[in-house]
Amino acid sequence: MSTNQEWFDRALRVIPGGVDSPVRSFRSVGGTPYTVASGEGAYVTDVEGRRYIDFVQSYGASLLGHAHPAVVERLRDAAARGTTFGAPTPGEVLLAEMMTSRVAGLEQVRLVSSGTEAVMSAVRVARGVTGRDKILKFDGCYHGHSDALLVAGGSGVAQLGLPGSAGVTSGAVADTIVAPYNAVPVLDESVAAVLVEPVAANMNLVAPHQDFLGQLRRECDRVGALLIFDEVITGFRLDYAGAEAFFGVRPDLYCFGKVIGGGLPVGAFGGSREVLRALAPAGPVYQAGTLSGNPLATAAGAEVLSRVTPADYAQLSARVADFAARLEDAVRAAGLFARVPVRGPLLGLYLGRDAFDEPTNFDEARRLCDNGLYRPFFHAMLDQGVALAPGAYEILFVSLAHSEEDLSRTVEAAAVAARRAAHAVTS
Ligand SMILES: *Cc1c(COP(=O)(O)O)cnc(C)c1O
Repeated sequence: MSTNQEWFDRALRVIPGGVDSPVRSFRSVGGTPYTVASGEGAYVTDVEGRRYIDFVQSYGASLLGHAHPAVVERLRDAAARGTTFGAPTPGEVLLAEMMTSRVAGLEQVRLVSSGTEAVMSAVRVARGVTGRDKILKFDGCYHGHSDALLVAGGSGVAQLGLPGSAGVTSGAVADTIVAPYNAVPVLDESVAAVLVEPVAANMNLVAPHQDFLGQLRRECDRVGALLIFDEVITGFRLDYAGAEAFFGVRPDLYCFGKVIGGGLPVGAFGGSREVLRALAPAGPVYQAGTLSGNPLATAAGAEVLSRVTPADYAQLSARVADFAARLEDAVRAAGLFARVPVRGPLLGLYLGRDAFDEPTNFDEARRLCDNGLYRPFFHAMLDQGVALAPGAYEILFVSLAHSEEDLSRTVEAAAVAARRAAHAVTS
């Protein structure tokens, strides 16, 4: 049997940094990544046969847990009928119908192959519709890796301590304005769109202040800018009907990804018919994709969405709230301070030596994420069979497959990990 080290050494030779997405690297926590051989429900098993309770869940793409039997069956069926045609298929219609029937302001969606593409395309639509150039994003929000949107990005960009990315021209970001999260910016009529994660989940978790999103809506309306919700994480995870239902604020454009692909590569952007009239072939804003609306991705996505009800979200949220409280208690009893902010089923995790308030923007989040505690905590959890993301800027994803016992075991592990982390940093 090959070891994690052997696989990673081989990967390092043929894949830059050994990973196909920087967030997967262990650069900020140190050590060698585990290489996953398989996943089942709440668990992943590495190539050495070690099983972990998995809170990465493909960074939120997996809502039912790994390899759900019904999803696997649906994929088998779909694959046998052909995987891509370059012509319309029923699957894309079914998924689009499901999404639009749940999210009140979403009348049409176009499917793409990643969240990055979804946001990139939504921004293009906003510029096409308004005839304006500028877009505003918030510090620490992540909107995929397109040139104009990497600046001041969360997730892997934050994890690696990068201000943005080399290879992005100053021209590409000249029309991107960056503002602190939770402070409503004053816009002017050069702004095409304001792009926001309704719950920021790529700088650890930073929740919107009461009515932050509502005030953004009003400020956009005041100057005729479009409001874009990047729901690539929150979509069909925060709530059955999206962030719009959760916060009572309707954006002009929505971006989706992760959950709606049921574990396959997917993204989507949408809004009202009126706005989407701008999109080719009907309108002048061009956007396209050979594998868009891919039969496998739509089959998996539709299967996942068909299996969750509003009650599932309520139940998962309640379970997560209880888990969060127990995590905080366990860490505090072990001699560190923790805050585990929760919105719906989303939860963050901040560790500190002394008491602190829940962060409200990237600067506050960064100070805590970079305090050195996460690295020993992460490794102590991994040693005990609990896989968190290998970076302090990610949130924990609890799937519908995580049992009470899984969560209790995680709380026990956290107590041990907190003690070790407290020790590691003192000594
Ligand atoms: C993951 C993510 C993206 C990018 O999606 P990819 O499928 O990785 O391209 C965009 N926005 C948010 C909020 C995300 O979390």
